[in-house]
Amino acid sequence: MPIQILPARLANQIAAGEVVERPASVVKELVENSLDAGATRIDIDIDKGGSRTIRIRDNGKGIPKDELGLALSRHATSKIATLDDLEAIASLGFRGEALASISSVSRLTLTSRTAEQEEAWAAYAEGRDMDVQLKPAAHPVGTTLEVLDLFFNTPARRKFLRTEKTEFGHIDELLKRIALSRMDVTINLRHNGKVVRQYRAANTQVQKERRLAAVCGQAFLDHALAVELSHGDLKLGGWICSPQGARAQNDIQYCYVNGRMMKDKLINHAIRQAYESSLAPDQYAAYVLFIDVDPHQVDVNVHPAKHEVRFHQARLVHDFICQGLQSALIEGAAEDAEQAMN
Ligand code: ADP
Ligand code: MG
Repeated sequence: MPIQILPARLANQIAAGEVVERPASVVKELVENSLDAGATRIDIDIDKGGSRTIRIRDNGKGIPKDELGLALSRHATSKIATLDDLEAIASLGFRGEALASISSVSRLTLTSRTAEQEEAWAAYAEGRDMDVQLKPAAHPVGTTLEVLDLFFNTPARRKFLRTEKTEFGHIDELLKRIALSRMDVTINLRHNGKVVRQYRAANTQVQKERRLAAVCGQAFLDHALAVELSHGDLKLGGWICSPQGARAQNDIQYCYVNGRMMKDKLINHAIRQAYESSLAPDQYAAYVLFIDVDPHQVDVNVHPAKHEVRFHQARLVHDFICQGLQSALIEGAAEDAEQAMN
């Protein structure tokens, strides 16, 4: 075969292999887009665990009509323009691949309206070259992404979808993670027409603790120690469980770096080490932690799904987290002892 440029749809389907593993990965990309667009309310409608319908509506800033085609194209983003921007990412997205990828493996419609526009427009990509069609639509300011029949044209991937219950479970878990990181945003989740979760925007400490209990359970809140520390540009906040609140599973371990959900080895190690002797080998710490660093000091462009980070000053970050949590645990124990005396 001679060398040839792949048709757009095929190239996008190949890229989709990296970011679109299952319905929950679609929900992750779309909700992150809504957050990047400044939405304060996001409504998520799922049918059949996401294999039939994923519909996400937000009240963010919307996309101008003349950019709708670009939004569906690969390597098109409004979030970075230069290498300097890439080295200090402030948004959740930046690869400009999600919509093009998802659209290549589903029937995707993008409907949007900006505050400057009188009317909304709906866009969808057709054929092997993914030519974008536009038609007028009715929509308030903001954006709706509708993704139907995920993987309908990639049967090998569709085969890997698990049961409706399992796929919905992944979506629910993902939204818990997001609900914790963005307590200021209202998030509603429906499955097969039924309301499953309603996270109302929380601004006061009481409201935040209510959301914390809604996601992590009252038992976590009852044993939670609040953490708030900083060291130069480094900040650590959130809640960790006292040793009495340790769990038999690692089911409450939420960690964010600059608002992005992470499963990072370095951070996990620092947390484990902080609890060291206070946990039995079969016990797990529970935590919801937010780490904020100067975006120049961290590389998020390590993994397409952005689960991992690379800290430039890894040792410093590790010790800051470990020592910070140790002192929170010691303070918590001192408070307990004081209460016991009174
Ligand atoms: P990325 O998020 O990496 O930029 P995407 O493919 O996810 O790439 O989205 C492409 C572009 O479409 C974004 O840069 C943004 O300008 C626009 N966009 C996508 N979703 C939304 C949304 N919900 N609201 C406003 N703009 C959006
Ligand atoms: Mg995106």
